[in-house]
Amino acid sequence: VHILAVETSCDETSVAIVKNGREVLVNLVASQIETHKAFGGVVPEVASRQHVECITLLLEQAIAESGLQPDDLDAIAVTEGPGLVGALLVGIMAAKAFAFALDKPLIGTHHIAGHIYANRLIEDVQYPAIALVVSGGHTEIVRMESEGRFEVMGQTRDDAVGEAYDKVARALGFPYPGGPHVDKAAQASESAVPLPRVWLEEGSYDFSLSGLKSAVLNLVNQSRMKGEEVDKGGIARGFQESVVEVLVAKAIRAVHEFGAKQLLLCGGVAANGGLRSALTARCAAESIPLLIPPMKYCTDNAAMIGAAAYIKWIRGEVSDLYIKGEPGMSLEGWSVEAAAAP
Ligand code: ATP
Ligand code: MG
Ligand code: FE
Repeated sequence: VHILAVETSCDETSVAIVKNGREVLVNLVASQIETHKAFGGVVPEVASRQHVECITLLLEQAIAESGLQPDDLDAIAVTEGPGLVGALLVGIMAAKAFAFALDKPLIGTHHIAGHIYANRLIEDVQYPAIALVVSGGHTEIVRMESEGRFEVMGQTRDDAVGEAYDKVARALGFPYPGGPHVDKAAQASESAVPLPRVWLEEGSYDFSLSGLKSAVLNLVNQSRMKGEEVDKGGIARGFQESVVEVLVAKAIRAVHEFGAKQLLLCGGVAANGGLRSALTARCAAESIPLLIPPMKYCTDNAAMIGAAAYIKWIRGEVSDLYIKGEPGMSLEGWSVEAAAAP
């Protein structure tokens, strides 16, 4: 089964062809980071225009590189949401046109299901599983009873982890996107400025990052007002330790509470060195199998969309040609039908 997948939910235009939800024949990603850097963040209107400029070329190139004929494709998958509506629409229109012209089924796919199923590109997922989703727009603990069934156990009540990283980075004077810079500074620093851990109510799987972010901004402002040098490394390390400690503790607790056979890490912040090493160490100590996709499948890409769409395709759950972008699309609502689960 060959699925051609399209992803345009934010600032990456990507087209991939994935065989059997597992084997990536081609995965092309045109990143707009350089364009948005000048603005210090993603400008939605600019993102949409760039998607328009890239999408046709990427579609043609993906098919050419795969060595397949368009008719060899079994379905066209596209990110339906969540994301920037104008950006989503570009991919959706292209995918619809392609599906209609080739008379192939269309599969509207959830972006976060894609991030989670990026792990399937590496190995089969064992259920029940817990996924820790950490990206630019999402911070969630998701329970998966079986393939394609999603239940959100907890999520951030304010900023997403990636968003908090980018805001802290900006305060420390790092260029956009700042997450990787804060990560590097944190790992290079010998000392950590003490910062609070935000646990919320006992037993809660939710997160809150805005207070921690404000604490960092206050520290930076205080230093500047006093004319002192900002301890960038110490702050980065303190921030990272605080974030990582809470993420790891809640994810591990979820694994135990639900008897999960596997923990899946995913999303752009899965690239974070501090998080990867802390989670790897904890999982090793507690004999919890941990899956982390390689970096290229952690950030936005269409291969992960092809992997997620496959679980719908094999159940015959395809979309009609009337789908339109769903900026606030629900992950639970995208679950496969329970009765159809094998
Ligand atoms: P969503 O998937 O929620 O719609 P998104 O697709 O924009 O959001 P991703 O592309 O998955 O998000 O991740 C991008 C985020 O990951 C950015 O906020 C970036 O700063 C952050 N990030 C990337 N690498 C690292 C790192 N090493 N440490 C911390 N954050 C990082
Ligand atoms: Mg992105
Ligand atoms: Fe994403």
